[in-house]
Amino acid sequence: MLEVRNLVKRYGTHQVLDGVDLDVAEHEVVVLIGSSGSGKSTLLKCVNLLEDIDDGRIVLDGVDISDPRTNPDHARRGMGIVFQAFNLFPHLTVLDNVVLAPKVVHKVPEEQARERALELLAKVGLEEKAKSYPDRLSGGQQQRVAIARALAYDPKLLLLDEITSALDPELVGEVLTLVRELAASGTTLLMATHEMGFAKQVADRVCFLDGGALIESGPPSQILEAPEHPRTQQFLSRII
Ligand code: ATP
Ligand code: MG
Repeated sequence: MLEVRNLVKRYGTHQVLDGVDLDVAEHEVVVLIGSSGSGKSTLLKCVNLLEDIDDGRIVLDGVDISDPRTNPDHARRGMGIVFQAFNLFPHLTVLDNVVLAPKVVHKVPEEQARERALELLAKVGLEEKAKSYPDRLSGGQQQRVAIARALAYDPKLLLLDEITSALDPELVGEVLTLVRELAASGTTLLMATHEMGFAKQVADRVCFLDGGALIESGPPSQILEAPEHPRTQQFLSRII
């Protein structure tokens, strides 16, 4: 589904991604871990073409989306992304937040886009909030709307960047439950998280990033409980 090859990203002279190779298979849940500044968010943004890359290739379903000749719509339609801070449009209702991109960017007929948006809001348990504005929702509810919005054109791959780290602790659970449901229903996920317990439950594979390099990757039982690389061991000893 996703193949990242030798991905290099620099900000000025600072090399933030140092030749990352990463594969995500269909229906797989891949979790990125690593200390702050290790490059997790940059990797997700590069995969989604929100950042230019300096070297390497990003291939989605056999199409090299990092090739400037590829229609960027292929990447935009193929992936949804949700960030740490809620980025709903405050002046639009919950429903219109979910309807906007399919309608305006992808020219889906209004009626069809609304129907799909209501289905998605039901899926995230927020049908009854369709007409509310984001500031009337809790942080956890806003994040669930952001997930519904990211699912609006049935992306092949959903990218999630620390989607619970801006939430009050009592709201984390509802968002993680939703992610667990998505994973169980076969959504392909690539996510960065600091929630190691959650990573252990939901991940098929955990990848440890350090200094922009992918140091070690494997099933959660291996990486989180018996890491081989000293840097992974050091990282985990500091946080668990
Ligand atoms: P965190 O766990 O804190 O979210 P992260 O692993 O997501 O960290 P990134 O945000 O990818 O880390 O940052 C990786 C490195 O790239 C950091 O050193 C950061 O300072 C740098 N960086 C990120 N974005 C930019 C930018 N727009 N301009 C310059 N440097 C940046
Ligand atoms: Mg980050």
